[in-house]
Amino acid sequence: MKSCRPAQRIGILRLPSKCGITYSLSVWNTRPFTHAAVSHPRLSRFFLPSGNLALPPGERESTTDLLIRAGFIRKSSAGVYSLLPLGTFVQRKLAAIIHRNMYMVGASEVSLPSLLPPSAWRKTGRWDNTELYRLKDSSDSEFCLAPTHEEEITSLVSREVSSFRQLPLRLYQIGRKYRDEKRPRGGMLRGREFLMMDLYSFDTTVEAALATYEEIQMAYRLIFDTIGIKYAVSEADSGAIGGDLSHEYHFVTPVGEDTLIACDSCDYTANVEVAVSYPSEEHIYGADVVAVQYGLTTDGTLLVIYHPPDRVVNENLIKRELPTYNPSVLDPVGEFKRNNDPMLQRMIRIFDERVSEKSSLPDLPVSINIGSITSLQFPCVEVAPESYPNELCPHCANGTLRESRAVEVGHTFYLSTKYSAPLKAHFTAEDGTKKTMEMGCYGIGVSRIISAVAEVTRDDQGLSWPVSICPFEVVIVTKPNTGKVDDLAIKLYQDLHKAGCEAVIDDRDEKSFGWKLSDAKFLGFPVSVVVGNKYLKDGKVDVESRRTGQSISCSPEQVAQTVAIILQTEKSTMRSTSP
Ligand SMILES: [Zn+2]
Repeated sequence: MKSCRPAQRIGILRLPSKCGITYSLSVWNTRPFTHAAVSHPRLSRFFLPSGNLALPPGERESTTDLLIRAGFIRKSSAGVYSLLPLGTFVQRKLAAIIHRNMYMVGASEVSLPSLLPPSAWRKTGRWDNTELYRLKDSSDSEFCLAPTHEEEITSLVSREVSSFRQLPLRLYQIGRKYRDEKRPRGGMLRGREFLMMDLYSFDTTVEAALATYEEIQMAYRLIFDTIGIKYAVSEADSGAIGGDLSHEYHFVTPVGEDTLIACDSCDYTANVEVAVSYPSEEHIYGADVVAVQYGLTTDGTLLVIYHPPDRVVNENLIKRELPTYNPSVLDPVGEFKRNNDPMLQRMIRIFDERVSEKSSLPDLPVSINIGSITSLQFPCVEVAPESYPNELCPHCANGTLRESRAVEVGHTFYLSTKYSAPLKAHFTAEDGTKKTMEMGCYGIGVSRIISAVAEVTRDDQGLSWPVSICPFEVVIVTKPNTGKVDDLAIKLYQDLHKAGCEAVIDDRDEKSFGWKLSDAKFLGFPVSVVVGNKYLKDGKVDVESRRTGQSISCSPEQVAQTVAIILQTEKSTMRSTSP
């Protein structure tokens, strides 16, 4: 059935107005769709520009280029992309999974502006962030394009909430964010404009905030379980957001920008930025002279950090033990000598776990009363399993550590009062005292997940979407320009629809049958139903799984049931078998 036809004038509608003038309107049949065509999604009706199916020669095509060639996205400028219809289908399904799980934890949806004034950003000290897009309007008033919304949501809540009775509160949105990324790369993995889910929690006590954190962690696990791609949850650095407790959610892939350290014996996983290892016997440092690094805390205490000369001190690990450590001081010893009253001088000597009692220590850079010196020992150097194998896991002390590359797709932070204190998000507690709200913030990179899922599931035939976020679950591929086949395609669509499967008919008659079969694999629909020569010859239809390549030949009446079984199997096995 070819339903495209030119628009025709099919009548004139005359509308009398109250003042006696009659308007004549031509009525055009401008919808080139038959009723049947509207009822049945057809690829010929989609804006689906796609290029040559042949893979470019030479090196592996990037996933961004693959998504462009398959007609899911288009590049607007460096780090900025448009989603085409198939891309919006993926995005909408991802958003639906997030909305469902946010509803389950009692989070309410808001929509905050992208154009934000600087006042709150100045109060939190983040206005000078170099990745902020700053702009001025015609009245010379300053704004930024929102890279995140802690300031905006905290200001909003501080104005609207004043009593413990209005708490706890969980607010989230799925919206656009902007970051002046100097080197946008990886397509939608690290863009300048991107779509994110961000959730903010407000509680009355630390205990309640930590319980919220646990509950949102559970919701995140449900979201990522539903997406169906194998993921890792790792201990993370709080970075620019700040806060005391933080976890990252990653898809493991060799092209990822992050490095994860994981134990081969327990579930310890951490971003290399905060990963910890204990030395095995062979790595305990002997009698040789160890290296030393100096640091200063915000209250003027000099840190003297002893470590093996071949290892690099991880400042995040120092900061985790001593939160007042300020790594940005360039000359800690000079500052210490200049600013301290000799009577008030204090020093903390930090021994990395690899430094032993036998090690020779360099002389102290300043003379100081021995009673003013404290000593600590903890692991404080960067973990590097490839150079230093057999170092031990900090959780089980049994397993050894392995390194892998990964893409961060979600992040959770317990913020405490980092934003609520400067932005005066106070409330009156049950005992009548004035208190500051305890906050958490939680993000999921929506556009980043689209690109990351494409990355970890692609193969040499093209994209391969998991059932959870595929644009369509089933594509019915028909032999072009064959009326009998097209009629069957509609019948199959109706059967699949009744069985709860989302199908689309590939009726692009201008393409060859072979091209359409390759394109079904290239676009990555989980199941293809092929209505071609075999049907014309002996009445059989092929049902093919994109991921396994398995093909089942069956009668048209058996198609819906066969597809439903394949989809169900895909949903239950995808996560355990994905990379
Ligand atoms: Zn372990």
